[in-house]
Amino acid sequence: MAGSPFHVVIVGGGISGLSTAFFVMEEAKKYGVAIQCTVVERDARWGGKILTNRLPNLLIEGGPDSFLTSKPWAMDLCRTLGLEDQLISTVVENNRTFSLSRGVLRELPQGLLAFRPQRVDTLVSGGLLSWGGLLRMGAERFWPQSSRGQSEETLGSFFRRRFGAAAFDYLIEPLVAGIYAGDADELSLEATFPRFKELEQKYGSVIKGMRVAQAKAKVGVSPKPSGSPSSLFMTLRNGLGTLTETLIQRLTGQGVHLMTGCGCREVQPSPHNKKKFSVVLENETSLDTDAVVLATPAFRTAQMILQLEPQVSSLLEDIPYTSTATISLAYPTEAVESCIQGYGFVVPRKEKRPLLACTWTSLKWTNRSLKGETLIRCYVGGRGREEILECEDTQLIDLVRRELQDIVGITSSPNYTEVHRWVQGMPQYVVGHQARVAKIKDLLLSRPTLQICGAGLNGIGIPDCIREGNRVAETLIQSFSSRVEA
Ligand SMILES: Cc1cc2nc3c(=O)[nH]c(=O)nc-3n(C[C@H](O)[C@H](O)[C@H](O)COP(=O)(O)OP(=O)(O)OC[C@H]3O[C@@H](n4cnc5c(N)ncnc54)[C@H](O)[C@@H]3O)c2cc1C
Repeated sequence: MAGSPFHVVIVGGGISGLSTAFFVMEEAKKYGVAIQCTVVERDARWGGKILTNRLPNLLIEGGPDSFLTSKPWAMDLCRTLGLEDQLISTVVENNRTFSLSRGVLRELPQGLLAFRPQRVDTLVSGGLLSWGGLLRMGAERFWPQSSRGQSEETLGSFFRRRFGAAAFDYLIEPLVAGIYAGDADELSLEATFPRFKELEQKYGSVIKGMRVAQAKAKVGVSPKPSGSPSSLFMTLRNGLGTLTETLIQRLTGQGVHLMTGCGCREVQPSPHNKKKFSVVLENETSLDTDAVVLATPAFRTAQMILQLEPQVSSLLEDIPYTSTATISLAYPTEAVESCIQGYGFVVPRKEKRPLLACTWTSLKWTNRSLKGETLIRCYVGGRGREEILECEDTQLIDLVRRELQDIVGITSSPNYTEVHRWVQGMPQYVVGHQARVAKIKDLLLSRPTLQICGAGLNGIGIPDCIREGNRVAETLIQSFSSRVEA
């Protein structure tokens, strides 16, 4: 490596920012580019939404509890970081999830949580849908294609149109709420589940398209890569916090300058060199840098570039966010074991209850609680239901306890409770999202050394955030590499 190093400042120490820093250092080695990297995080803690609390008897995830394995980027990063032997799957024998329908918990088809239903017989036997609802859903195969052409559609409109209102209300809506904490009548199909639109366009039916894909997989036309995971979701034995902690260790070892408790206020052009930036921190010091990556929530990024890129700032500001909270409760196992089965349940909006979903954490994963204790996690809030976060912690705990009593009959008191609030924590990819993101990309084309990533733009899941971190790092290092060569 030759020449004085390029300085890269990454703002935001969630998984997006930390993985970007990691890939920046990896790519720099690959291309022989000298890099000095700084990561700036406003909180005192690294990890952003990834928050694992390890107690002597419990392991509590305050934010995400796992990642989808069908998107390989999180698994790949875990492997690269040497965490492969710490990956754990969901407990196979408890693989059942329920949806509340007309006040009763009824089983969902397996695989539906990842929108890959394997068996739908539980729908017939479990009474989740009425016969009318089932027949309408089955008629999807013969239902005419949309005449909407290329116009963007909401998830609600698409799924009601294809599968009928009942299937939407009790199968799709609660799953979408569980993932995006969103309102399916606002969320864009193209920005959230584009594959469904593709299946409709290619096969005339989502069901037909899925059958073709399953048949191809069976005869090996699209074989599973060797070593591919059996579980749709995976996590790390000691919690997802292990991933961000390991990244921090690696970055420290590589000489990356890591600053916590220090927010970025603004990004300005450098007064010394037009091609560079000055990252102004909230403590009024500033960092002179060749490149900036903003891996912060879109509305925060918008504030930082208000003067520098007003149009991009305004587009980012328009990305809505919603607020949620997770409430973990630990009970003596004997007090709850007769009431709970499977991984947990989702609550359709139609049921008009304050609870969004509930996970029987100790049944879904091994080692989340010591023997004799059972950990449960409730999820509340979401689009249109944010006012619940105005409750005090004790009120939130009382509220979910009442829900657990009504829905599954848990009457005893928990031994331990923990509340995590995610105010404006979940971006909403509403209709128009993709056009907005494309416009942002266009506007920033002339500034390759100013990069924006994070869950607000190109995917909210951990794997998507990691993929974006990798893409941003490649773009930056390639642009530096071409400058070195020139
Ligand atoms: C309750 C909940 C459950 C979830 N469950 C799952 C799940 O099971 N699986 C899954 O894949 N995904 C899940 N998600 C989504 C996923 O966790 C997030 O989308 C992802 O972690 C976001 O990462 P990020 O780095 O983009 O943003 P963040 O984690 O929000 O990180 C951004 C960071 O920027 C910092 N910051 C903000 N402003 C500034 C500033 N001015 N200067 C410096 N730093 C700043 C913040 O403090 C924060 O640390 C869940 C999210 C929530 C809230």
